[in-house]
Amino acid sequence: MKKKIVIANWKMNHDFYETTSFLRNLLKILLDKKINHKKKVIIAPSFPFLQISNQILQGTAFSIAAQNVHQMENGSYTGEVSASMLKSIGIQKVILGHSERKKYCYETNDILLKKIHISFKYRLNIIFCVGETFFERERKEQFTVVKNQLEETVFQCSSEKMIDFIIAYEPIWAIGTGKTATPEQAQKMHKYIRTLFIDKYGEKISKKISILYGGSLNEINAKNFFSKEDIDGGLVGNSSLQIEKFLKILSS
Ligand code: PEP
Repeated sequence: MKKKIVIANWKMNHDFYETTSFLRNLLKILLDKKINHKKKVIIAPSFPFLQISNQILQGTAFSIAAQNVHQMENGSYTGEVSASMLKSIGIQKVILGHSERKKYCYETNDILLKKIHISFKYRLNIIFCVGETFFERERKEQFTVVKNQLEETVFQCSSEKMIDFIIAYEPIWAIGTGKTATPEQAQKMHKYIRTLFIDKYGEKISKKISILYGGSLNEINAKNFFSKEDIDGGLVGNSSLQIEKFLKILSS
């Protein structure tokens, strides 16, 4: 059975002290075996703390992801961070397509496809977010919307690139709102996404792809989501910021 994956997306939260003490405490609690969990854990802190976070987690089963990368190789893009920069400090993973970046930074599928290509070039493993808005769900368009998002981005890539690819299904109306999709709604979408991968890349690859749920996941509802057949873990925002809540999610 595939190991479940839990990703903590800290967004623009936690300063240097909060980041480092969270990670050190997390390791201490887990090494002392105060909680039991079998999940693969990925933490996505802010850019300035990627390197120190990576150092703290060195030699453990945990890893670090960047929350974004710029689509260009290098050059005059003030304030941006390139894939080669991430790679040069030992970062192996990147989150792409988060709905907050689409909303506030106007990331389109065209831009995301460029980000996918540059991430492949520098061998960054991708965690790719898809999901529909509230109105799209109201109009029952959620499946078409997610299919289009994948077709214009991930499905432009060949099958050999799909190793270690992670998809995060994040209904936009559930992110940071306290509203969650039901585990049944999420399972239905995850199964649909898995079917799209079967049609595009075949059964073998589709089984290897991890599809995570994200959207107001917390220490109370995580277990129900993780029990569903096609939900391979979670991408967690708010509830990953407090160590007690995060640990409860890990042991769900
Ligand atoms: C997210 O940032 O991807 C997310 C799912 O946030 P939250 O858990 O706060 O809804």
